[in-house]
Amino acid sequence: LNPNQGAAAAEPCALCPRLCRHVCPVASAGLEAATPTAIAGAIVDAGRGLLSSDLLAQALDLCVNCGGCAAFCHIQRPLPALIRAARASPGPLAAPLGPAGSDPWVAVTSDARPWGDALGRRLRATVEVVPALPEHGLDGPGADAWCAAVSAAFAPALGRGARLVLADGGSARVLRAAGVPFTWLHEILEVPVEAGCSCDPSRAARCCGALGPLAGARPDVAARMGRRALRHPQGRTWGDVACASHLRRLGADVDDIIDRLIAEEGA
Ligand code: SF4
Ligand code: SF4
Repeated sequence: LNPNQGAAAAEPCALCPRLCRHVCPVASAGLEAATPTAIAGAIVDAGRGLLSSDLLAQALDLCVNCGGCAAFCHIQRPLPALIRAARASPGPLAAPLGPAGSDPWVAVTSDARPWGDALGRRLRATVEVVPALPEHGLDGPGADAWCAAVSAAFAPALGRGARLVLADGGSARVLRAAGVPFTWLHEILEVPVEAGCSCDPSRAARCCGALGPLAGARPDVAARMGRRALRHPQGRTWGDVACASHLRRLGADVDDIIDRLIAEEGA
């Protein structure tokens, strides 16, 4: 961790009377320790040597990187970026990034399910498959360099007119941060999707807990958020496969866009 990273910049949020608490999906699930103000306070305390790196890490894990606080903030404080910067750097990320061939479509995978061939049959085109882009690449001081590497890796394909398709919000956030355009799989399939916050960041306050490090680090909190999200009427198909997977684990009957493609086109 980088306990001094962003401590001064986080002070306005640490002193703020929790003005953005209501847009934070984690705090809204009833966890006062997860308010943006509380997390900013942890960054400030760690910078002053008043909080251990372990406790700082626990506080940082309570943010799902939804961006809701920064979007709401009337004084434009970049708290999500400060939280990401204060997290541990993931170290070198796996290469290679980006497509190697000349196919007109590029599918960014989400998990072990092979949907590149199915997408190719649907599009009647060849599709190159590349690995998912881990969201934790946006954490730590190496984030800018990693975004530059992602941008450079995809530039040749974009330059020859290739289109990127993806189905998970983690890769979407990385590509957005790197300035790389992409298309959602559900848009290609013309499936009406109840947009999750990864598809539509303006809906960040409704995050079901699947995003960021939270689901792995604090499954109890993520489950509470998921149950809260399920209390609101939703469509059967969610925009992000991470959301669908998370909500299915909670017993919800929701469709997954990759399963739908494979069912329609074959594996
Ligand atoms: S992001 Fe803005 S509204 Fe939220 S805690 Fe920081 S200063 Fe307050
Ligand atoms: S980015 Fe989202 S989850 Fe993180 S503190 Fe801000 S509102 Fe809460």
